[in-house]
Amino acid sequence: MTPAAGDFFDEGALVGVLTTQPLDRVLDYAAPEGGCWPGAFVEVPLGPRKVLGVVWGAGRGDHDRAKVRSVIRVLDLAPMTPAMRDFLDRAAAYTLTPMPAMLRLATRAPGLGDAPAMRRVYRLGQSAPDRMTAARERVLGVLRDHGGLSFTQAELAETAGVSASVIKGLVKQGAVRDEDAPRDTPYPRLDPDHGGKTLTAAQAQAAEALRAGIRAGRYGTTLLKGVTGSGKTEVYLEAVAATLRAGRQALVLLPEIALTEQFLTRIEARFGMKPAEWHSGVTLTERRRCWKMVGQGGCQVVVGARSALFLPFRDLGLIVVDEEHDTSYKQEDGVLYNARDMAVLRASLSGGQVVLASATPSLESWANAQAGKYARLDLADRFGAAVMPEMSAIDMRLEELPGGKWISPSLKRAVDTRIARGEQALLFLNRRGYAPVTICRACGHQIGCDDCDASMVEHRFLKRLMCHQCGETRPMPTACPSCGAEDRLAPVGPGVERLEEEARALWPAARIAVLSSDLFGSARALKEAIEGIAAGDADIIIGTQLVAKGHNFPELTLVGVIDADLGLQGSDLRAAERTFQLLRQVAGRAGRASTPGAALLQTFQPEHPVIRAILGGDEEAFWAAEAAERQAAGVPPYGRMAGIILSAPEAQAVFDLGTEMARNDAPLRRIGAQVFGPAPAPIARIRGRHRVRLLVKADKAAPLQQALAEWTGQVTLKGDLRMAVDVDPQSFY
Ligand code: ADP
Ligand code: ZN
Repeated sequence: MTPAAGDFFDEGALVGVLTTQPLDRVLDYAAPEGGCWPGAFVEVPLGPRKVLGVVWGAGRGDHDRAKVRSVIRVLDLAPMTPAMRDFLDRAAAYTLTPMPAMLRLATRAPGLGDAPAMRRVYRLGQSAPDRMTAARERVLGVLRDHGGLSFTQAELAETAGVSASVIKGLVKQGAVRDEDAPRDTPYPRLDPDHGGKTLTAAQAQAAEALRAGIRAGRYGTTLLKGVTGSGKTEVYLEAVAATLRAGRQALVLLPEIALTEQFLTRIEARFGMKPAEWHSGVTLTERRRCWKMVGQGGCQVVVGARSALFLPFRDLGLIVVDEEHDTSYKQEDGVLYNARDMAVLRASLSGGQVVLASATPSLESWANAQAGKYARLDLADRFGAAVMPEMSAIDMRLEELPGGKWISPSLKRAVDTRIARGEQALLFLNRRGYAPVTICRACGHQIGCDDCDASMVEHRFLKRLMCHQCGETRPMPTACPSCGAEDRLAPVGPGVERLEEEARALWPAARIAVLSSDLFGSARALKEAIEGIAAGDADIIIGTQLVAKGHNFPELTLVGVIDADLGLQGSDLRAAERTFQLLRQVAGRAGRASTPGAALLQTFQPEHPVIRAILGGDEEAFWAAEAAERQAAGVPPYGRMAGIILSAPEAQAVFDLGTEMARNDAPLRRIGAQVFGPAPAPIARIRGRHRVRLLVKADKAAPLQQALAEWTGQVTLKGDLRMAVDVDPQSFY
């Protein structure tokens, strides 16, 4: 790839190189033999090491010229586009992240500097085989359909639906050619005209609006709101098709890896081929291929997790954020960024479109649509015969239930009916493990984690206690760790495993499946379990929030929410919003096929406004009320916030620093921002580190980042003190 004329540094010219090393500036180097250009990926010497970097521009020249070292070499990678460099700059400024950390995010593929590895590939040969079979015909058909493209043996066998021996036979006869080719090859082309569905009138209208945005070729964000099963996916796939037609690239972000597999199959049905995948479950080789091809234009569509946003797309025309309200889009460690917001930033710099899809949008996106910053499209009805489930409350104050049991007689009767009809029921409880708390009946001691301010959760399946903060586990003791009494430890409260025990006692003949992320060794095992359930392998599903995320269970007609009040406790400003979203999503799992569904919410406070809003189904009213409250309080999305978390092994040191920061708040006061705290964080100790929070509140229009940078810049972190700055915090633990 050649740079634009004029943008070139001749050999020996001073260039500024951004590296992935934690330095606070771009370093000066001399351009190598053959010169280099802005955006070029290079290898540079740093002390005794060679490190990866990107030419960021001209050098500053404020260094002793004699000491300036030379760029070692320009790597054989597509240069980083100006839009991408701009994106990293702006994302760094927004999240207050040092640039080297940003560049690390953007280069998370192995062996980028290595010489290309080779592999064996297969193409159409010259001769015809001696004897034609159906299997052979399919192999040759696939190769013919995909012109110049080469396949690995596994890809070819899978696409043609034949065994490897069929391919080997064809090679022997010269009908198929095999040769060595670089491992990082372009992905198969996707065909926008393959496999489109006939859309309903409402879907077609929404699809056309999105296509018009793509055709315009400039930035725009659209909130695509529609109940679960209304065909949002079908609609945004039309936007993907339009992007392909325009010769640009598309990125689809999903909130959960377990959903990818189902989704890839859907893309294949729609476009004839699978797209590239990018998430933690992808092999290192595939990661490198994806990273390189995205940059070279050898990849049209990527389906991935939030970090796919930092891939070096050459010409990104569309970003879809599916289930845009999902909290997993916020990265909570390392670089603290929200993929939904960064998607909007990235598209605005690359002249692309963003589609935010959800049945229950975040209040942020709802408000942006209200304010006219985002376009909004609504799909009001479910596709086909399916209707939204009927929702009602079970008033737990009126139910007779012995201690240690959670399935009310009313809920039991409803499940009985579904089982009798051969349908599926889901019992939803957002708590992993057997019991959240274990206490000693002799002394009252509650077993906690040694390193965290959190209780140890019993996981009976694993026969261990686990801390959900740090992941530490230990065998389930028989004696109380405090008083030593034998066999007096008792579980308190329910987790999904305990609920399973109760369900087995109530429905001994039923097939019961538990879906909780910790019960599956691998993403594959989880995926198989999900497919089995979808195929009807279970009568009763017991699940955590994992089941709320987009899985499609056609036989499911009843959702019972065990504890609808669970999310309403706590002081999180988004507690109401989150509960509303989660429960609507879970309820939306019921009745996807032609049988109508029902959702029953067990609650001790049926008159709570959030529970009433969920039951009433008047979503606009709920959002309007929630928006009014936030506006009155001046909190997001109507005001700005940043969370500062200070931590250290020593409690006193953390408090002292917090107090000092709160006192020296001049940079914040200058922009009219207020600082609250220091206060112990809700989880005051994690992994042996004491945690203290400060909260900064500012007006929507205030230049918050600048002030934060100045304010936190006054602090030098001594010893083992650490500070994390979280702009637009989503969680307050
Ligand atoms: P959402 O993304 O809103 O949950 P989907 O796009 O997954 O909805 O649609 C729900 C189901 O209905 C899917 O199985 C989908 O294939 C099917 N469906 C939606 N619209 C159509 C259509 N126009 N023609 C055929 N099937 C459709
Ligand atoms: Zn712990």
